[in-house]
Amino acid sequence: MTPYEEALRLILDQARHLETETVSLEQAGGKYLAGPVESPTALPPFANSAMDGFALDTEGRELPADSRWRVLASVAAGDGGGEPLEAGAAAEGETDRGLAVEIMTGAPVPPGFDTVVRVEDVEVEEEGDDHPAAIRVRVPVEPGQNIRAAGRDFDVGDPVVSPGCRLGPPEVAALAALGVGRVPVFRAPRAAVFATGAELVSDPDRELAPGEIRNSNGPFLGRALAELELSVLANRTMGDREALFLEALDEVTSQGVDVVVSTGAVSMGRHDFIPAAVEKAGARTLFHKAAIRPGKPVLAAVLPGGALFFGLPGNPISVAAGFRFFVRPFIRALRRQPPETPWRLPLAEAVGKRPHLRYFRAVEMVETEEGGPAVRVLPDQKSFRLSPFLSAHAWCVLPEGLDELPAGARVDVFPL
Ligand code: AMP
Ligand code: MG
Repeated sequence: MTPYEEALRLILDQARHLETETVSLEQAGGKYLAGPVESPTALPPFANSAMDGFALDTEGRELPADSRWRVLASVAAGDGGGEPLEAGAAAEGETDRGLAVEIMTGAPVPPGFDTVVRVEDVEVEEEGDDHPAAIRVRVPVEPGQNIRAAGRDFDVGDPVVSPGCRLGPPEVAALAALGVGRVPVFRAPRAAVFATGAELVSDPDRELAPGEIRNSNGPFLGRALAELELSVLANRTMGDREALFLEALDEVTSQGVDVVVSTGAVSMGRHDFIPAAVEKAGARTLFHKAAIRPGKPVLAAVLPGGALFFGLPGNPISVAAGFRFFVRPFIRALRRQPPETPWRLPLAEAVGKRPHLRYFRAVEMVETEEGGPAVRVLPDQKSFRLSPFLSAHAWCVLPEGLDELPAGARVDVFPL
């Protein structure tokens, strides 16, 4: 039996580089970045107003309430060229008023103006043709207010996104704002799912004969792989028939598969043909049986051609755990993503376990009496029971070497 950490290392050592392609930002959504992107420009590109109001030239001074201003012009978002406004060019004969321009949110702050006051804090003293001509500011004024400086969000050369990063809505927004139209991404890894078991039925409209059950592992893995943006070449059942398995393996290998996940037939039963079949296919077994629960009989092997084969045992929660803690870390490594950092959270209640195994358990998030976060291991978890998982918020890891973890013990917690 291989300890989990060692089994994981054997797997991660096999992750090879995925090819990359450069695609438009639109096509890149949901894909994984293959190289870093640094900011090609400053954002905001120019100093602009954070408010609808008036830009003032305070000459760097703080001013008490009720300061009075002559309004030279009005600038809206999108105004750019035109005559540069010179705050220094004072209105003729004006002594008791400073110089202001009416300004809208997002409009460039004209040179020489150093602060913006909100329209709500202003009283118009004199109307003009298309903007107020003179105003009084009811509140004290400090220089530098309500101006979004150029480069305040990103400066030229700032790191924006790093390799392995998934391009979700925030990343797409930042790259679009910076004018980055094309990015390098990894191609989607190709996966195949083979559900073994003579008892399996995949067609939901077919009535079950005695002894038959429905295939849930196939749909589970298909969905789990699709959510990680893999392309699923095949998702099949094959009874417990080695010949069908070898044929299917051949087929997906020739299609350039990167990851094959099988379920069932990997333990000690008479029909558990997977360990011998993968050797027959010319694969090199990395380990068979890991010191974990659920999912102990798991097997990993390198297929001829370099794809990784995961033989997960058939029980649905063994599949879920094996996928979460072996297959998913491998997929991360294909995309050059760093290992995940778990949350560390206290257990709300004590849990017992077998000391030599690492346990993966479904948990719900709860609140401690002090109001902090904690996790509670959901009751009655069995490798065949899907129902606890429907109320799970996350996985927790109960480490090997312990036979009980007391309430309050901190454990690693991973998102589902
Ligand atoms: P095995 O690892 O092949 O001995 O299967 C262990 C248990 O998981 C048995 O009760 C199987 O019937 C069940 N099982 C196997 N494959 C599936 C599947 N694709 N969907 C649901 N249950 C399965
Ligand atoms: Mg079986």
